[in-house]
Parts: sequence; structure tokens; C-alpha cells
Amino acid sequence: MTGDVSGKKDLHGIGAAVPDKMRAWVLGDPEELTLVDKPVPVPGRAEVLVRIDAVAICATDLEILTYGTPAMIEGGPPFNKNYTPGHEYMGTVAALGPGVDEFAVGDRVTVEIHAGCGQCKRCRMGMYTSCHNYGLNYGAQDKGHRANGFTTDGGFAEYAVNNINTLIRVPDAMSDEEATLVVTAGTSMYGLTELGGLVAGESVVVIGPGPIGLLAVAVAKALGAAPVILVGTRESRNAIGRELGADHVIDARNEDVVARVKELTGKGADYVVDCAGSEATVNQAVAMTNRGGKICLAAFPKNAVSFNLGALAVNNIYLYGIRGEGRSATHRAMAFMEAGRFDASLIHTHTFPLDDLPTALRYARERIDDAIKVVVSTRPGVPGGAKAG
Ligand SMILES: [Zn+2]
Ligand SMILES: [Zn+2]
Repeated sequence: MTGDVSGKKDLHGIGAAVPDKMRAWVLGDPEELTLVDKPVPVPGRAEVLVRIDAVAICATDLEILTYGTPAMIEGGPPFNKNYTPGHEYMGTVAALGPGVDEFAVGDRVTVEIHAGCGQCKRCRMGMYTSCHNYGLNYGAQDKGHRANGFTTDGGFAEYAVNNINTLIRVPDAMSDEEATLVVTAGTSMYGLTELGGLVAGESVVVIGPGPIGLLAVAVAKALGAAPVILVGTRESRNAIGRELGADHVIDARNEDVVARVKELTGKGADYVVDCAGSEATVNQAVAMTNRGGKICLAAFPKNAVSFNLGALAVNNIYLYGIRGEGRSATHRAMAFMEAGRFDASLIHTHTFPLDDLPTALRYARERIDDAIKVVVSTRPGVPGGAKAG
């Protein structure tokens, strides 16, 4: 099988045609991205080279460009280190590292971000996204950890190297753009099932219709949660939440969110996923969760927030955080997406060519034209702008 490429597939730049150099965006000072020529990386043991076909922009990319964190290159800030950001990408296997027979050149794949060290306590528990050797992949400290686009080079480029544990096969019928959304859906899946233990028939409230929130609605609905309630303020996004399966949408601008959740659920929600992470939403989450319920924090508040901690104790409420995908939840998210249980592509709004990355970032940051997920494509001849159809 190795090296056997179907005649239907796009063969440019894979197998024997892998070039020595590639185009890649690199981060200089904050907000300063430059398109440069870089050597194409060479896959090591348990790794493949991926020809990147599409990469989605995440709010975390915007944060990295401005603040550096949560990216960390060689133990410090990522600025002026020839580092390429971007982590939500998909593509085609272009070359195999030594000993790899799990994938073949020509396979379409999408990626999750973290390859843990495999030897720390958390990796041994399967919690590789909480690896204790996070960011240790260089010099004498090389523990083999990778978080592509965070601690190693990522996807705003023509090629990247990935550990085989981070790869998910993409069905032929799925578009490049939809395949970039698997890691986002996988993050929502991990929060609800692997960490939260959600079972059918329990009520879920999602606060904040960003990409993770909207796909949390979709995943919760597909898992049989009932009712699924979305809290948001932007009508265009709330409408997508309804299409993805929200039974009820609460507009936080003109309704009492907590009172409405209690009215819809009786005693309060079994699960609340807070994708906003503001003081107001954390307090709403605590007040709307029923006794013995669970709150998943899926946002990164920049400042300390004040909330009624005692209410968690008195009501046996569990509070837990997620920093991203985990426990191979991406594979289960892909299973739902392949089966058409929800249409993740509803949150993809714009595509731009790789050369127009700065425009794509501006659309994502300023939410121009109601942008939600903006995708950058390396396919030749991609016109930039709103999604066709
Ligand atoms: Zn992301
Ligand atoms: Zn580890």
C-alpha cells in the first residue's frame, strides 16, 4: 500500500514530488507575519509529512499573534523564532517517516493538535492534551511532545510534520473546509463526553455561539441531549445554532437567562458549557446548573473572575476546564460528521488563498461580513471571499 496513490487524487507535491522548499508564514514581532521560503520538514519515527490543503483560523491564533501565549517556542515567547502558527489544518499525506505503515502517501487526513510525550503520568492516563512535558521538544529537554502551531511549526504553510497519533482520515465526500472543523467539534465532544460523561436525555446549555459553542450544540444534540439550549446575542449566529440542533435559543440581551433556563428545564441544567468565560456568564452558569450538575469552562478568561463558589459546594456542582481536544474525541466527532449527524460546514463562512492570510485574519478578527470560521486554502486558483452557495 505504501506509496500507492489513486489516479483520482491530487498528486501535486506528494511522494517523489515533495520539494525541498515551501512557502510558510512566520511570526516576527507581535502581529508581524511574513511569507518566506522555508525548508520542507522531514518526518521522523512515527511521523508523516502532510501537504496542507486547508487551514482554519481560530481565535487562539489571533491571541498568539498579539500576545504570544499560549504558543511557546523553545520554552519562551514565539516571536522572531522563525515559527509558523496555525493549528486547525487538513491535507494529504506527502511522505512517511521511518517505520510508518498506518498511513499511505495520498491519504487525506485532518489533524488534532497535541502529540503527548507518551511517558508522563497524564499521557499514561490517555490525557495527552494535559501532558506534563508540554512544550519540551528541543535540545537536551526533548521529550518528544508536540503541539502543532503552539510549540512547533503549524499550518500557515504548504507542509507540516505530524505524529501519526494526531491524524484522522477524511472521507472522500468531505470538503477540505469541513475537514478543518473536526478538531473544533472534537473539542466540544471531549468536553461533553470524555470529561463530562454526558448521556442521552440530559439537558445541556451552551453559552456563547462561537465555533466551539455552535459545535457543542451540534454534538450535544447528536448525543441525544434534551433539551439543548443556546444562549447568545448575535442573531446570525443564534440562527445557525437552531440549524445545528438547538431546541431553544435565549437572547441574553432581552431575556433573564437564568430564569428562562429554569423554566425550560425545571430544576436547572444538567450540563452547562460556558464558551464565553466572562464574569457575567460564569455567574449565570453557576446559577442555572441544577444540583449535581456539571459546568464545563471552554473559554480562557484573561482576568480573575468573581463568582459564588459556595453554590458549587452546597449544590454538589462539578466545575471542569478544557484547553482543547483530547482522548481521540476528534475520531468520534469525525464519525458524527461523516454520518451527516450535523452539518459542521454551516459555521464555515469564508475562504482565502494562503497568500491572503492577513486578509483572512482580518475577517476573523473583525468578524467582517458575519465571519465565523475563516479558512485559508493552498489549492491553486482559490478565489478569496464568502463561501460559495
Ligand atoms: Zn483552535
Ligand atoms: Zn506526556
